[in-house]
Amino acid sequence: LVLRKDLDVADGKGERNPHTGRNFSRNYYQLLELRKKLPIYNHRDEVLKIVGENKFVVLVGDTGSGKTTQVPQILSMKYGKENNKLIACTQPRRIAAVTVAQRVAEEMDVRLGDEVGYSIRYEDETSSRTILKYCTDGLLLRESVTDPLFSKYSMIIIDEAHERTISTDILMGMLKQVVFEREDFRLVVMSATLDAEKLQKYFNNAPLISIPGRMFPVDIKYLEEPVEDYLRATIEAVSQIHREEAAGDILVFLNGEDEISTAVKDLEESLRNVPGEGHASGVHVLPLFSSLPSNAIQKVFQDPPPNKRKIVLATNVAETSITIDGIVYVVDPGFAKQKVYNPRNRVESLQVAPVSAASAVQRSGRAGRTRAGITYRLYTEDAFESLTAMTYPEILRSNLNSVVLQLRTLSMNPVQFDFLDPPPPETVMRALECLLYLGALDQTGQVTKFGKAMSVFPLDPELSRTLLAAPDLGVAQEVLAIVAMVSAAPNCFVRPLNKAREADQAKRRFEAEESDHLTLLNVYTEYMIHNSSSQQWCWENFLNERALQSAAKAKEQLERLLEQQGYSTKSKRIGFDYYGQSIAIRKAITQGNFMFSAVECKRATYLTTKDNVEVKLHPSSGVRTRPTWLIYNELVITTKAFIRTVTQVEGSWLLESSPNYFTPDHFTNDVVSYEIAKLTGERKKSRSAMNTNLRQAY
Ligand code: ADP
Ligand code: MG
Repeated sequence: LVLRKDLDVADGKGERNPHTGRNFSRNYYQLLELRKKLPIYNHRDEVLKIVGENKFVVLVGDTGSGKTTQVPQILSMKYGKENNKLIACTQPRRIAAVTVAQRVAEEMDVRLGDEVGYSIRYEDETSSRTILKYCTDGLLLRESVTDPLFSKYSMIIIDEAHERTISTDILMGMLKQVVFEREDFRLVVMSATLDAEKLQKYFNNAPLISIPGRMFPVDIKYLEEPVEDYLRATIEAVSQIHREEAAGDILVFLNGEDEISTAVKDLEESLRNVPGEGHASGVHVLPLFSSLPSNAIQKVFQDPPPNKRKIVLATNVAETSITIDGIVYVVDPGFAKQKVYNPRNRVESLQVAPVSAASAVQRSGRAGRTRAGITYRLYTEDAFESLTAMTYPEILRSNLNSVVLQLRTLSMNPVQFDFLDPPPPETVMRALECLLYLGALDQTGQVTKFGKAMSVFPLDPELSRTLLAAPDLGVAQEVLAIVAMVSAAPNCFVRPLNKAREADQAKRRFEAEESDHLTLLNVYTEYMIHNSSSQQWCWENFLNERALQSAAKAKEQLERLLEQQGYSTKSKRIGFDYYGQSIAIRKAITQGNFMFSAVECKRATYLTTKDNVEVKLHPSSGVRTRPTWLIYNELVITTKAFIRTVTQVEGSWLLESSPNYFTPDHFTNDVVSYEIAKLTGERKKSRSAMNTNLRQAY
């Protein structure tokens, strides 16, 4: 009953906000009017009742029905203070977690970070007052390492479950267990698609709350004929909408930073001051992707300058969860970058592929959020009919190393884990083997002390091990910077096509001839020195300032975590000449990344040791020493195979980093096997017994 009142508390003006004790603001009442029109509004009692009576609930509703912003809010009134525990609501994407939290804080008339907050990797905006926290699924999963029963939370709401990210899938499996083990815990799973039955079954026949109806009609238009160049078609479609269609902003789905940056420039050049229907002064073009800094993201959500039409070019971060007010037109070329993992050669790559029908529907749903809209699908209706229904779960197309390590840290058997869609056992076994070679697991499959420390970092196990190797080698600071750069600022070099030569020259000043990783370190170090004038400095040196900002933030967090693990993060400078320091850093890189090694097999051609791909150094590499052995950060397969971000290493360092891995008979390829036999001085002997033991343990 108190609840009922809480829900209605703001219906009369001049009432006090129960959270702040202050009168509600005018903005609050304005937003309340909008909230009352959402389909979920009349289902508040039902939501509270069913959640009150059940520990598992599945909630399904069309996009725009109010799931993400309203359901956690409604539930937080009751469960957000229960036993001093709070509610967490997970989002697959960082941007969604941040912007939704902002919106909900505004709707509840509280300051962001007080009652409503968010937590994403490298950023925490919550406090002891927080009753509702939006966070990424990955972040919540990581919390389980230190708190396997999620004891801080009275309830966890998994949102956008239809996206089926790895973290969401694992969380669902883990939380299912937590519900059985904790009396005082509830789980709500929300999804935009109607594949609720599978979820209900998985959660022991959980009851279903179904919210009908989208808010505003969305008209869908298809092309009559397929197009060849979707980028060109996109630019043309946007120009045409701007010239001919009534007032309203445009949201365009593209793939990746590069594509978006090019299109932003194209549209600015061609349309900036071109008046269109209802927008006398032209267009205001903005990019939206996850590595943008928060102030650039904010711009997307703000009103454009007067009389300008806002055009947002986004990756599929804009596909779910977020609402950009004013969007009337959606342009969807029908492609998305997807992670594809091949367990046979363990290559994980991002490929541009057609979206699923479910994604296409989500995208068009972005148009009807605040008023009626139109979606232009830049493909034919036949093509739509032939799209696969659902996005293939990420867990079935990924490298499982960190996932498996996390499960092992929680003493779960990854081969028997209760997955909604179990990954192939072979992929799981391979992950277990990698972890064994990295020293994260022992031969019986138990997590080592080292493995525990590795699991704390929000990084792939290879990079965590690199970090952990650094303090002993006296190069903690340097390696922290390198790992931060590799993980948070992979594309820090800007290379505009019309200034490619100048950009290359600028890059050369940072280059270390023996290591691209050291080049990244040089960039980072110089950047920190020029911190006070970094914008100008980055511009002059063809560097992406926001990538470097993210790296600096990442380094801070990694440093804190390393200290918490009891490591000293100071570097020993005494007694180091440049070369000694370079060796120590490259040894640390080898310690973690020895599986990503390559050996020269022909002039300027290398063979990767684990999947035997013949590769060249990527043209962006500054390594000119023609070493026999290399470590690479990334294998890129386009028209040719390249390794990118490489470092010269010694064969003996590889042996030191994992003697069990580098035995000649571990490798089936003759060239690799021969080169390793040269290092070890051995001949081929039988397959290492260690590996067999591990397989038997599961
Ligand atoms: P769902 O999760 O069911 O797709 P949401 O809770 O995200 O729905 O949003 C419901 C509606 O609330 C949107 O369709 C939109 O009308 C409104 N809304 C949400 N966030 C914003 C925002 N930041 N600005 C303006 N309107 C918003
Ligand atoms: Mg949503």
